[in-house]
Amino acid sequence: MTIHILNYINGEWIPSQNGKTISITNPAHPNEIVGRVQASTASDVLAACDAAEKAAKSWGFLSPTVRAQFLQKAADILEVRKDEIAETATREMGKRFIETKGEVTRAVTILRYYAQEGFRKIGEVLPSAFQDHLLYSLRVPLGVVGIISPWNFPIAIPIWKIAPALIYGNTVVFKPATETGITGAKLVEVFDEAGVPEGVINFVTGKGSEIGHSLVGNPNVDAITFTGSNIVGKTIAQLAVETRKKYQLELGGKNPAIVLEDADLELAAKLVVEGAMKQTGQRCTATSRVYIQSSIYETFKQLVTDELKLFKVGDGLNQDITFGPVASKNQYETVLNYIRLGLEEGATLAYGGEEANQENQADGYFIKPCLFENVTNEMRIAKEEIFGPILCMIKVNSYEEALSQANKTNYGLSASLFTKDLKKSLDFVRNSEVGMVQINGETGGAEPQAPFGGMKESSSGTREQGQAAVEFFTAYKTVSINPN
Ligand code: NAP
Ligand code: MG
Repeated sequence: MTIHILNYINGEWIPSQNGKTISITNPAHPNEIVGRVQASTASDVLAACDAAEKAAKSWGFLSPTVRAQFLQKAADILEVRKDEIAETATREMGKRFIETKGEVTRAVTILRYYAQEGFRKIGEVLPSAFQDHLLYSLRVPLGVVGIISPWNFPIAIPIWKIAPALIYGNTVVFKPATETGITGAKLVEVFDEAGVPEGVINFVTGKGSEIGHSLVGNPNVDAITFTGSNIVGKTIAQLAVETRKKYQLELGGKNPAIVLEDADLELAAKLVVEGAMKQTGQRCTATSRVYIQSSIYETFKQLVTDELKLFKVGDGLNQDITFGPVASKNQYETVLNYIRLGLEEGATLAYGGEEANQENQADGYFIKPCLFENVTNEMRIAKEEIFGPILCMIKVNSYEEALSQANKTNYGLSASLFTKDLKKSLDFVRNSEVGMVQINGETGGAEPQAPFGGMKESSSGTREQGQAAVEFFTAYKTVSINPN
């Protein structure tokens, strides 16, 4: 049964004005069509933005404690629909069912967290130079927020943008990644079922390269929150500046881990492999470079290889599988090209790296986890974000050398250090040029109540998640009342 997904505009599920659709396929079985989404046009985006604008005043005026009830309800509904939505996401982009279920659980937590934000302070009373005046600040909604999300976290990322947007009083136009448009629609159904008033959340699918600028450039849209690639992020920022909008970008990473000789090597190997290979390496926070002190290089390499050998590649809907396909044909070709490039650049394969269909007797986008050695910082495989299951090992003589090489990148999302040395740990916290630091943890570790984001070219600056989100999704209004 193929699912036919419509746009959701002003509280109604409607087809795109041109009637065209896009097929979504399953990366574990590329011949299987999971469903169809609307190939929307600029006029559909316009209608969605108009609806959001129309609803913005009344939604923004509701008490946050009342808005909170809609988020609570959405959380309850999402929890009930966990398996169904997780399965859809697995079939759309290949991530293992256990991981997509984890993502739904995370999304439920995020909704409940932001529902609680509806009961917290919305401003501050300040001392005035005029003794009988009341001077205070208020956090007010921005108006309409445009949300553009990637396919790699098709549940958690939309929710960690939609939930704060709504609780702080904004209305939303949401465009998911095309690869995961069906999952996106199911999330919108959850808000629909929760009774969110018409126009508060609007949903359009379609190629970002065709309709993205209509959303970002729309005069009724006040802010854009985007997670995706650096190249698209840059064009969004430019258009947002031209059309005077607030914007937030969460972009790529090339995250390093450093393993020193005094580390718990078994723990480090386990967490470096998890960091690199979880979700088939398709995480912005994935570990892609590991700097290993030369005295323990061979031991660590063996431990990592042993971990990699445990992976069982296949369709992530199957419970025995521990390593799913990459998300699409495009991803498959990109990753295989990088493996060829690494070999051309002079790196050597310490493990895996080949496509894994034959032994699987499958036709999906399966690649075995890939471990490169003899890598230098100057190679493209060590510099560019690959977004796939490739880990580069680089030998270093000291912590200082590792830190300096780890920082030599345009990205700055996350970084890990494995050591028992407190002094080096604190030095790493200070000098690592990233937004998220892990000591004896994997680079992808993130909790929804903590600020999430990077430095350098990985982010635009304002953080997502936790209470940090209020910075992006609201503006200050400063009020002075003279009672006389
Ligand atoms: P992408 O190609 O940049 O796409 C992201 C979103 O932007 C999709 O919804 C896409 O729509 C849309 N889009 C494409 N072209 C557009 C345009 N010209 N204007 C407006 N929107 C446009 O990224 P992706 O391949 O989906 O995701 C992988 C990237 O996301 C990686 O670089 C990864 O590091 C990054 N990422 C970052 C974080 C973080 O928090 N820092 C988290 C996850 C992923 P279509 O799908 O229709 O093309
Ligand atoms: Mg894409």
